[in-house]
Amino acid sequence: MACHASLNLHDRVTSRQCSARTVAPVMTAPMSPVISLDGAGKVYGNNRALEAVSATIHPGQFVAIIGRSGAGKTTLLRCLARATSPTRGSIRFGDVDLTGLHGRALRLHRRRVGMIYQQFNLVKRLRVIDNVLVGRLGHVHGWRRWAVLARRFSAVDRDIALRCLHQMGLLDRAWQRADTLSGGEQQRVAIARILAQQPRVILADEPVASLDVLNGRRIMDSLRRVATAANLTVVATLHHVDYARTYADRILGLRAGRLVFNGTPADLDAARLVEIFGELPEPLDGREAGALAGLA
Ligand code: ADP
Repeated sequence: MACHASLNLHDRVTSRQCSARTVAPVMTAPMSPVISLDGAGKVYGNNRALEAVSATIHPGQFVAIIGRSGAGKTTLLRCLARATSPTRGSIRFGDVDLTGLHGRALRLHRRRVGMIYQQFNLVKRLRVIDNVLVGRLGHVHGWRRWAVLARRFSAVDRDIALRCLHQMGLLDRAWQRADTLSGGEQQRVAIARILAQQPRVILADEPVASLDVLNGRRIMDSLRRVATAANLTVVATLHHVDYARTYADRILGLRAGRLVFNGTPADLDAARLVEIFGELPEPLDGREAGALAGLA
């Protein structure tokens, strides 16, 4: 039954009449808010993980956060997700100050932020489609929550999940177990799950650090494509400067918790790199750099 439904949907979403334009309204996220950080800081005990970071991120921007290990990149993402609270300053999403959120308002914020992780965070023994449907949980209310416990999502939710998989080029894998997919495919499923959540902002913590450059490039291309199509803000920590240069509109450079660079890839010259990393970071080797540039 499920397979039959999926074949029908496959026909619908892949037929010429039902092209990306037809799929787009389902996929379009509500407008991303302006994100304003004003002197945001985070202290863990005696450790200052973030020091008075101020920046504005505009809707639809693709922002990379770079810096050495321990510079505060993940802490900044966690503050944006309100997985943790800044200990000073403010972070606003539009008019909403995140520091004051609790209870239902905090849950709503977390639902509106999609997180992508280095290790994909899929439930490996569940089918791909079920993993993507997890993204719909925040949209299920009232008695329907009980139906979801029996894995009975509505036709609309299943339709959205399949369309998200189609966007990530994985519709034909919907009924496979997640752990039968390659690392790159699993990360694409994770992105489909986030799209199904219909977030207002995507936060990605080292999304390609576990992948080789070719797969990393595929993931970054997909993320960039879907974000641009929906005018959705993406903020991603990236372990390698070359990814930031290739994909970001804007780069934030952190050093020991301080924001020492806030500019475009073109502004990121050798002197600024040394300011961020304390030295020039290792370049990707020739073959990897070629793969990233699409020349391999
Ligand atoms: P990055 O992502 O750039 O590697 P992090 O944001 O993970 O850096 O960490 C910044 C600093 O905060 C580090 O010194 C780290 O040890 C510290 N830190 C991060 N999370 C915690 C925590 N939960 N408790 C205590 N210290 C933490």
